[in-house]
Amino acid sequence: MLLDTYGRIATDLRVSLTDRCNLRCTYCMPEEGLQWLGKPDLLTDDEIVRMVRIAVTLLGVKDVRFTGGEPLLRPGVVGIVERCAALEPRPRMSLTTNGIGLARTAAALRDAGLNRVNVSLDTLRPDVFQTLTRRKRHDDVIRGLEAARDAGLTPVKVNTVLMRGINDDEAPELLQWALDHGYELRFIEQMPLDAQHGWQRDDMVTADEILTSLGGRFTLTPEPDAARGHAPAERWLVDGGPARVGVIASVTRPFCRACDRTRLTADGQIRNCLFAREESDLRGPLRDGAGDEEMAELWKKAMWGKKAGSGLDDPVAFQQPERPMSAIGG
Ligand code: SAM
Ligand code: SF4
Repeated sequence: MLLDTYGRIATDLRVSLTDRCNLRCTYCMPEEGLQWLGKPDLLTDDEIVRMVRIAVTLLGVKDVRFTGGEPLLRPGVVGIVERCAALEPRPRMSLTTNGIGLARTAAALRDAGLNRVNVSLDTLRPDVFQTLTRRKRHDDVIRGLEAARDAGLTPVKVNTVLMRGINDDEAPELLQWALDHGYELRFIEQMPLDAQHGWQRDDMVTADEILTSLGGRFTLTPEPDAARGHAPAERWLVDGGPARVGVIASVTRPFCRACDRTRLTADGQIRNCLFAREESDLRGPLRDGAGDEEMAELWKKAMWGKKAGSGLDDPVAFQQPERPMSAIGG
């Protein structure tokens, strides 16, 4: 299994399928985009499936989340899901997407074996969406969400980042909308993972602010800690439940001690933490003919070195990782 020196066991694998994206969210990427990885650098579909096979058959991984960049931009995404669904033991599989293209692919992804999706949407206002993402695609995301729900990729979770002065007044409205449409909303505190290094701690909308804003309209009851497990989101029952809302407070209330994540980048690097400043190259050995057992040992070694925490609790010493979120796989 993927154990670290603090006794944590990673059973949840994030696989980045591409670093490319069709949006330019201001908290993630600059307007002009980034220097994308070249095709030879990217793991092929076969290489990705092999890595997932090693993870689930030899390393105890139980959950696989496909992400990016925008994972739906990867032409082979449905085939990759289908081949991973055929693995024994079969992993639970989900996908984090900005929702563009989901209206077209939701049914095929479900048929391939995908269990559920997280769709990122920060606002209900098309003009604010354009300000935040620098693209006019609000309608596509809404249609993608509906298609995911209709295809049974449930629970459909919606990820929202609030930005001060832009959409931070929308929290209650977004929650009401999510309740009305049967989506589970989760707010994510803005993290210092943008390519532009523009994140400012003082400017970030905190979990406490979000909860205060929601509390003005809804009665929130904390879910017991036991229900949380390894989930990064703290959850509250809304108006007595059963509907819930989550907050991922990676900055103000980090949950590193229960982290069960391991990450594979689109170019075959293992990262033991979103905020790690080192990564372990598994693409080299993979292409040099390493066997499954050897690959598994290298993966274990990469995880053994995982640090106790993200370092975000020490603003003076904290150093942002070189790769931005979109190239790590958020
Ligand atoms: N493109 C897909 C999407 O947007 O859902 C998947 C990749 S994206 C990097 C994954 C998640 O990370 C999204 O929910 C996005 O809002 C979030 N994200 C990106 N940059 C972030 C940041 N600096 N702080 C917090 N969340 C961020
Ligand atoms: Fe693209 Fe997702 Fe980053 Fe937005 S958050 S720019 S959709 S990778």
